[in-house]
Amino acid sequence: MIRTLIATLLLATAVPLVAQPLPTPTPAPSGKPSYLPTVPKAVADIRDAALTDNYAWDLVEGLTTEVGQRMGGTEAEARARAWAVAKLTAMGFANVHVERFALPVWTRGAEAAEILAPFPQKLVVAAFGNSASTPAQGIVGEVVGFDSLSDLIAAPDAAVRGKIVFVSHAMPQTQDGSGYGFFGGPRRQGPSIASRKGAIGIVVRSIGTDHHRNPHAGGQIFETGVAPIPAGALSLPDAEQLQRILKRGQPVTMHLTLVSSIRPGDSGNVIAEVPGRDPTAPILMVGGHLDSWDLGTGAIDDGAGVAITAAAAKRIMDAGRPLRTIRVVWFGAEEMGIYGGMFYQDLHGREGHYSIAESDFGADRIWKVDSKFGKPREAEGKALQAALAPLGIVPGPLDEADGSDIGPMIEGGMSAVGLSQDGTKYFDLHHTPDDTLDKIDPEALRQNVAAWTAMLAVLSGGIEPQPKARKRR
Ligand code: ZN
Ligand code: ZN
Repeated sequence: MIRTLIATLLLATAVPLVAQPLPTPTPAPSGKPSYLPTVPKAVADIRDAALTDNYAWDLVEGLTTEVGQRMGGTEAEARARAWAVAKLTAMGFANVHVERFALPVWTRGAEAAEILAPFPQKLVVAAFGNSASTPAQGIVGEVVGFDSLSDLIAAPDAAVRGKIVFVSHAMPQTQDGSGYGFFGGPRRQGPSIASRKGAIGIVVRSIGTDHHRNPHAGGQIFETGVAPIPAGALSLPDAEQLQRILKRGQPVTMHLTLVSSIRPGDSGNVIAEVPGRDPTAPILMVGGHLDSWDLGTGAIDDGAGVAITAAAAKRIMDAGRPLRTIRVVWFGAEEMGIYGGMFYQDLHGREGHYSIAESDFGADRIWKVDSKFGKPREAEGKALQAALAPLGIVPGPLDEADGSDIGPMIEGGMSAVGLSQDGTKYFDLHHTPDDTLDKIDPEALRQNVAAWTAMLAVLSGGIEPQPKARKRR
């Protein structure tokens, strides 16, 4: 029966085919050619050797174990600088030194959030950097909730005055972390907006993507002329709990304690170099930031970044002498307001920099390379893409790159490289107590080091092998 049916169907479709030939559409073009230049053997060799790297793990393991958390401007960050100078000197870097600068130092104190009515219960909270301090006994106020920063902006001042503001948002996981810019608004701008409207405090849904009961810390700076108010983050489960409580429609009272202090202090950038054969050639600068938030040990943010970039520079040093000097910079006090990056720009911004690059997006595998070398050096961008492709890294744009500490310098026109790490899981851990060494996959870390080493090998103007030591008879 089925056979008969199929035979009938075939016969029915076959008739018009024979009667009249069907038109053939024009096939779509295959797109731009996707071939890249051949990778020099010397570059491929040094890249592949870096896949067995142990320098980066040794650095991030040492920093997170022997120093731990290291908030900008604190005594812990000073210990991190001393650790860094000793370590980088022992690794054989030249010109290892610290360039110090002053900054206001914000320190976390006692923290608690509790719903007093209608359903008494405790919530998990952490203050944002530069938050005003509550009195030791905390503050009590009615909570007014908003689903987004736009809703807070649109609210009449009378709806907010004298209250504790709560702002939610819907930050998604993305590979490139692009949600952080937009969905970070409640943390970055929320406290200033709430204060201008007369709020006595603000709590926001953590700028994060996990559902652990961990609040995500983070920086914010009150706008000029705005009175600082206590400001902090609720963990995602606690923020959702507060939303459900608010939805019940009864007035919600919160007891919020966010004690902190602020004092004048100092931080510094740690500098180390691999001297180039030509001291007059513009330098290559790579780095990350040495400071961290205080809730975890700053393993992925940014212990990994300082470790990866220094390990790559060390691998070049082991291979021989580059034409250009490679400068490794471990910036201070990034989290509190990019102080180290701004200070470096003030001090060194007018020196010749061939290219700059920063690793500050965790420790997962690099998946894309962006560069911004300018038209005359576009071939170098292609050479870089070719050198990285065997590591599973896709070619990105040739006219853009970004970074945190180095962001203002890129905006100022400096040539830069961006090695994009997979950020899908980054905001599960970012600025939380879970930012610890165990979250780093040593294999992914090695892939990072191989990519950074290849990048330095491509851009350093050629590495002259060290003369081999003569064998003793
Ligand atoms: Zn960072
Ligand atoms: Zn950070």
